[in-house]
Amino acid sequence: MSFVDDIVAESTNLRERAVKVMPGGITRSTLFLAPHPPYAVRGEGAVITDNTGHQVIDCNNNYTSLIHGHAHPAITSAAVKVISEGTAFGLPTDREVVFAELLAERVGLPHWRFCNSGTEAVMMAIRAARAYTGRDLLIRFSDSYHGTSDAVVAPDAAGVPTGTTRDVLVLPQADSAAFKETMASQGSRVAAVLIDLMPNRAGLVPVPQDFAGLVREQTDRHGALMIVDEVITLRLGTDGLAGRYGIRPDLVTAAKIIGGGFPVGAVGGRAEVLEPFNPLGNGSVSWGGTFSANPVTLAAGLEAMRSFNRTQVEALNTAGDELRATLHAAHIPVSGLGSLLRLRHPDLERLWWSLYERNVMVGTNGLIALSTAMNDTHLDNIREAVLAAYQELS
Ligand code: PMP
Repeated sequence: MSFVDDIVAESTNLRERAVKVMPGGITRSTLFLAPHPPYAVRGEGAVITDNTGHQVIDCNNNYTSLIHGHAHPAITSAAVKVISEGTAFGLPTDREVVFAELLAERVGLPHWRFCNSGTEAVMMAIRAARAYTGRDLLIRFSDSYHGTSDAVVAPDAAGVPTGTTRDVLVLPQADSAAFKETMASQGSRVAAVLIDLMPNRAGLVPVPQDFAGLVREQTDRHGALMIVDEVITLRLGTDGLAGRYGIRPDLVTAAKIIGGGFPVGAVGGRAEVLEPFNPLGNGSVSWGGTFSANPVTLAAGLEAMRSFNRTQVEALNTAGDELRATLHAAHIPVSGLGSLLRLRHPDLERLWWSLYERNVMVGTNGLIALSTAMNDTHLDNIREAVLAAYQELS
């Protein structure tokens, strides 16, 4: 039996039960790969153990969110302490104040609101932009993933109402001429331009500086807002990838790393742009969220972010740049920036399994997200496994 057959055979019982109670036996579409992924049992630092006892270096890190790997001692004890004091309240807690202060200082946008996922953060930023500008139209770019809400998935995707397209324009990524032309004809209708400066779905290739600058200039010119989706890219600089571009967005969405391994989302913005949420003002937008600003999430997230200061951000980026350079030198097609890498391969499913057999787990899309839990040996093992997998599949 092959390695994959073995894994699948050992998971048969769970898999058969799963397909009876969940469509296709899975909840997160992005985790699925045929015949069925193994089940995670335990994570410690950079390593995961699956239900068959197989151990892998985790380069997926829950799709980039575990910046310190699994079960980081300080994050775990911060979360456990809060759990023992009560996990959720119908009152705000001091942690949201402290966390908003931390994000304001770090990202350079003064006002913040919390929610539970990147999807929600994007929805909230779009709502803010529409409420603030009094306009409906959203411009976004093809092949950029911004979560699962109607406005940001493919307009022709099943289940998306046809009316959605009326208020959303999807333009080609980094096409300055198309963008300028659209802004010239539609600019006065545009509430916001939503951009990911290094979209993962589009291959994790940074947007050209000129194009990012053009979006800033055109949104300013037409009284529209610039929303930078930093759900994945916030880890690349203390003030995110926008900071590295020298761009100050009107709104930023964050999630993943800021939750310390718990569900999270946040929107940062200029004070006047988030003013519609102000219940003391003429507060036109009411937005709750039973678990928004959850104390367990925020305690874990605070610890995670405090342990990811400028020095650690830069060290992780350097490790990523070095890994990418070595893989490039060996003619492995790899993109990305800093601590985020993306392997390209015509058969990503086979690549995934080949790496998994070699004790390395990447994203099902070839994503590698480094964590501070990785040491030089882990990084060497990742490199060797990638080289061996490409060799096997060539
Ligand atoms: N925006 C970007 C850029 C993302 O990569 C993702 C998730 N991968 C989201 C939004 C949605 O975040 P979540 O999965 O937490 O809803």
